Amino acid sequence: MKEKLDQLIGEVDMRQDELIQLLHKLISYKTPAPPARNTEEAQQFIASFLKEKGFVIDKWDVYPGDPNVVGVLNGTYSSQFKSLIINGHVDVAEVNEDEEWLSDPFVPTVQDGSVIGRGAADMKGGLAGALFAIQLLHEHGIRLPGDLTFQSVIGEEVGEAGTLECCKRGYKADFALVADTSDLHIQGQGGVITGWITVKSKNTYHDATRKDMIHAGGKLFGASAIEKMMKIMQALQELERNWAVMKSYPGYPPGTNTINPAVIEGGRHAAFIADECRLWITVHFYPNETHEQVAKEIEEHIHLAAQGDIWLRENPPIFEWGGSSMIEDRGEIFPSLEVDGSHPAIHTLMNVHERIIKEKAVVDVSPTVTDGGWFGDAGIPAAIYGPGSLRHAHAVNEQVSIEQLIQYTKVILSFIYKWCHTRK
Ligand SMILES: [Zn+2]
Repeated sequence: MKEKLDQLIGEVDMRQDELIQLLHKLISYKTPAPPARNTEEAQQFIASFLKEKGFVIDKWDVYPGDPNVVGVLNGTYSSQFKSLIINGHVDVAEVNEDEEWLSDPFVPTVQDGSVIGRGAADMKGGLAGALFAIQLLHEHGIRLPGDLTFQSVIGEEVGEAGTLECCKRGYKADFALVADTSDLHIQGQGGVITGWITVKSKNTYHDATRKDMIHAGGKLFGASAIEKMMKIMQALQELERNWAVMKSYPGYPPGTNTINPAVIEGGRHAAFIADECRLWITVHFYPNETHEQVAKEIEEHIHLAAQGDIWLRENPPIFEWGGSSMIEDRGEIFPSLEVDGSHPAIHTLMNVHERIIKEKAVVDVSPTVTDGGWFGDAGIPAAIYGPGSLRHAHAVNEQVSIEQLIQYTKVILSFIYKWCHTRK
C-alpha cells in the first residue's frame, strides 16, 4: 500500500504541467456569480472527466444554466470500508469592470510560481487538485474499497445552496471534505444567516395627520414605521454588544459574532406617514451555534423591546429568515461547522498532511463561510481543506501558488486512498 502510494505521489511532481493545464482549463470557463447561470459548460466538462474515470454521474439543474454534478465511484467493498465526499463549488466571485488585472482573469497565466486567474484560489485550484488526484488513481488501476463521491456544485458565491441540494438528494458519506480556500489549514467555520425585519402599520395615513399622531390631544393612535425601526435597530445593537461581551469561540477574535443592519427600505412617499419599514440584517455566529438558535435569540430580544413600546406592542415586528439565493430571493444561510478533532478522518488527514508537507497540521476556523456548514447541518462529519489564501480569494489578480497546489494534490490523493481503505 505504501509503495503504491509513494509512486503515485511521485507522479504528481512529474506531471505537474498536466495539473496546471487542468487548472487553466477550469479557470477558462467563465463562471462568475453574479451574474450566475453560466456553469453548464464547466459542469459538463467535470461530468465527462469523472465519467471517464468510472464515476456514475448525476447532473441536474439547480437553476436553468446552473447544474450540480455529482459523480459516485462505487467501492469494491462499500459495506465494509469508509466512504468519502469531496465537495467544491464551480462558480467564482464576480469580476467588476473597473478591476485592473494584469491580464484577462479568464485567460490564466503563470507568474512568480503562481497561477493567476479568477477562481485560482477560490476554488478552482482545489477542484483541479482533487480531480487530478482522481485521475492518477484511475490511471494506476487503483480500485478503492470504500465509495468516493465527487460533488461539483453551483451558486456558493451568492448563497445558493448547491450543496444543500446534494444533501437533500440523499448523498451521504462517512466524511466530507470541502476543498475550498483554507491555505491548507483543516477548518471549521462560523455561520451566517440573513433576515428581514418588517415594521408595518395596519393603516396608511396622509402626511397631514402626523400632528394628530404625535401631539397632545391628537387622539390618533399611529406611528411612523421608520421611526419605530430606529428602536429595533437600537435593540439589535444592544444584543450585538452583549454577544461580543458574553460569547466567544477559540480561534475567533472577540466580537466576530455581529448583527449588521445592511439594508433599510421604508416609506412610500413624502405625502404619507411611513406605513412600512424593512430592515435586512446579516448575522454572523460561532461554530457551536445554529442559525435556528441565533434567529430565535434575536426574535426574543426584539419581541421584548417591542413590548416596551406602546405602538409596537400592538403592531409587532415580523421576521423572515434566510433564503435560498442572494439573487433570487435576497436571502441566504451558511450553517456553521464544528470540526471534531478526534474524528478518525481528521486524524488521517492530519497524518498525511504532516507526512507530505513536513509541517504540523493546523486545525482552526475559517474567518469566512463555505458550503461546509451544509454537511454539519446534515449530520455528516466534515472539514474545509483547500489550497489558496483568502487574501487572494475574490481579489484582483487572484492566484494560487503552484507549489502549494502540488502539495495539496499529494495530500488529497493520499487522503482519498487511505480513508477509502479504512474499515468501517
Ligand atoms: Zn469558495
